[in-house]
Amino acid sequence: MEKLEKLYEGKAKKLYATDDSDILWVDYMNQATAGNGAKKAQIEGKGNLNNHITSVIFDLLKARGVDSHFVKRLSDTEQLVRKMDMFPLEIIMRNTAAGSFAKRYGVEEGTDLKKPILEFCYKSDDLGDPFINDDGIVALGLATEEELAEISRQARAVNAALVDIFSKIDVKLVDFKIEEGKTSDGRILLADEITPDTCRLWDLKDKSGKIEHLDKDLFRRDLGDIIPAYEEIYARLTALAEAEGVERAE
Ligand code: ADP
Ligand code: UDP
Repeated sequence: MEKLEKLYEGKAKKLYATDDSDILWVDYMNQATAGNGAKKAQIEGKGNLNNHITSVIFDLLKARGVDSHFVKRLSDTEQLVRKMDMFPLEIIMRNTAAGSFAKRYGVEEGTDLKKPILEFCYKSDDLGDPFINDDGIVALGLATEEELAEISRQARAVNAALVDIFSKIDVKLVDFKIEEGKTSDGRILLADEITPDTCRLWDLKDKSGKIEHLDKDLFRRDLGDIIPAYEEIYARLTALAEAEGVERAE
């Protein structure tokens, strides 16, 4: 596979064309951002860890019947994915109140929710990714009614599989964001990344009673270094994949 011209550089990844028009070459960067880019830093080793973490998560999901755009990991910071026509949506699933949800409804962070909540934001840096509901998505033509039903079904399936995965490594999956797209042959699939940048992960091994963050809140809230936390997540996920005999795409 040949790496061709750069198509896009975002806040965390660069996308390149390849000699296969259906395949993209993704390079994970060390840049960390928060607050829609208001806070920015270069964190040595972050791209490497996120590339490894999202790869093992996509492999663990595949073993649970959840397909994604992931093709294979190429190097420490690079992977191949299926090229998708992306829905401009941040698809958020919540199992426990935290972050903007806790703030919006005046609920204490850590309050368990009686059912998982699916939320959407319109992905637009200029607008600051505003909240949008199902009617808004269809009315603005961001997805059709049928596409939205499939996206929602997949988001709930991803959540069920991820809750299982993280519970097995003593981590509470509080909430996360995914993105979905459409392949050239019209199939809706999970895309982008699933990493501690995009999930809230709380350590259940810590018995201090305090919340032990193993995710980007360490950076967002100036709570500490993210690298040891991301390394811990990667080590636990790898051990799980090995224990389950999950086939690795690398
Ligand atoms: P952002 O664009 O939010 O700054 P990134 O730096 O992570 O985020 O950039 C990755 C970009 O690639 C995102 O815009 C995402 O929607 C897009 N993307 C993710 N997976 C695919 C895919 N399989 N095909 C095409 N685009 C993708
Ligand atoms: N999230 C993300 N990218 C975003 C916004 C949110 O990956 O642009 C993730 C975030 O890591 C968390 C979940 O989505 O796991 C819910 O985030 P929330 O709406 O609470 O936003 P925040 O408090 O981070 O502003």
